[in-house]
Amino acid sequence: MNVIVLKFGGTSVADINKINNVANIVEKQLNNNKLIVVLSAMAGVTNQLQKYIDEIKSEENLENDLILTSGENVTIGLLSSILKQRNIKSIPLLGWQLPIITDENHIKAKILNIDKKRIYKFFEKFDVLVLAGFQGINLNGNITSLGRGGSDTTAVALAAAVDAERCDIYTDVEGVFSSDPNIVSKAKKINKLAFEEMLEMSSTGAKVLHTRSVELAMKNNLVLQVLSSITKKSGTFIIDEKKLIEKEIVSGVSYSKNESKITISGIPDKPGISAQIFGLLADGNINVDMIVQNISQDGVSANITFTVPNSEINIATKILEENLKNIKYDSLKTDKNVSKISVVGMGMMSQSGVAKKMFKTLANKSINILAISTSEIKISVLIDEKFTKTAVQSLHEAYNLEK
Ligand code: ADP
Ligand code: ASP
Ligand code: MG
Repeated sequence: MNVIVLKFGGTSVADINKINNVANIVEKQLNNNKLIVVLSAMAGVTNQLQKYIDEIKSEENLENDLILTSGENVTIGLLSSILKQRNIKSIPLLGWQLPIITDENHIKAKILNIDKKRIYKFFEKFDVLVLAGFQGINLNGNITSLGRGGSDTTAVALAAAVDAERCDIYTDVEGVFSSDPNIVSKAKKINKLAFEEMLEMSSTGAKVLHTRSVELAMKNNLVLQVLSSITKKSGTFIIDEKKLIEKEIVSGVSYSKNESKITISGIPDKPGISAQIFGLLADGNINVDMIVQNISQDGVSANITFTVPNSEINIATKILEENLKNIKYDSLKTDKNVSKISVVGMGMMSQSGVAKKMFKTLANKSINILAISTSEIKISVLIDEKFTKTAVQSLHEAYNLEK
């Protein structure tokens, strides 16, 4: 049995016209295949649901996930209904109905298991399973969500579970570009990209694919394609690095405004302090990203600066203020107006001078670097948020990515 997984994002299901367009694509792909179609909520809906949660300042994980995942219920109902009108054997399925089992982490749950046999059972009666993305159920029987943008991960996890022939991610752009095409008008579509590069791009802000979906695709060596639901062009294939003939030194520039900076000044400069600070944050399930430590002018104390996602800054600050009482420190400052800019490329592994060009380009624009972090194929810098667009555009130009 040939199974293909198709996933459609929010803009691709934004209204009835768009959902009819999705039905056309589904009809075309059907042939003799079985299809799993994963949908997001209509564009803007999940944001609105999050606003309601913020308005009542709800800290109830159980309720919050129930609210957040409700948008997908509407779109799968609409698409499946339209498919039935076209005499296609389709069934809409919520996460718990399959079920998609996740861990207990609300708001950013991880998928633990999908029962392949149940999927095949549904395929005995139906040709198209229309699945709600972004949601699952944990072992306590509670609804969980996979983190914003998580429908991509639902699609890849399903594709891995049934060893699908393909997993196509339909979105509002024609593929993965050398930078966000919505802020860099000269950004170019990339035809083929290695899993590793895509992973770095997603995790540094290129929201075109949910980071976890790339991790899962890489682990299962799945063919992943990102393409537009509107134009009929072929998109970007995310593939095994060994199959890449040309390795670009820099493939893309990404940015994330979803960062907050915490600086703790005047801490004792002695062994064990970092272990204590980051241990507390790890126990609180906080994702710490960039870290810089330096000695204060007095030569006795130190300052430590690090970043966390915006959504975790309040809880991180609370944890630190409550638990650092036994450590002497002068001040704890937070700053949400920062942005992380990253350049990513497989060829960086064997080439020098990439960092030099990055720092020089930013210096020429008088942009100050607040923190730096690197991997074998990525360099990230933290800067003042107001320079985001200038930084991304000038780096895109400096590395000749519009060519
Ligand atoms: P969907 O709702 O289909 O899941 P998303 O909004 O999550 O769509 O992702 C698509 C968006 O990702 C694009 O509209 C684009 O603004 C943004 N994006 C950021 N970086 C990139 C990139 N390097 N290539 C393509 N799109 C990118
Ligand atoms: N609707 C969810 C969100 O907006 C999931 C997704 O779009 O992937 O985050
Ligand atoms: Mg998305």
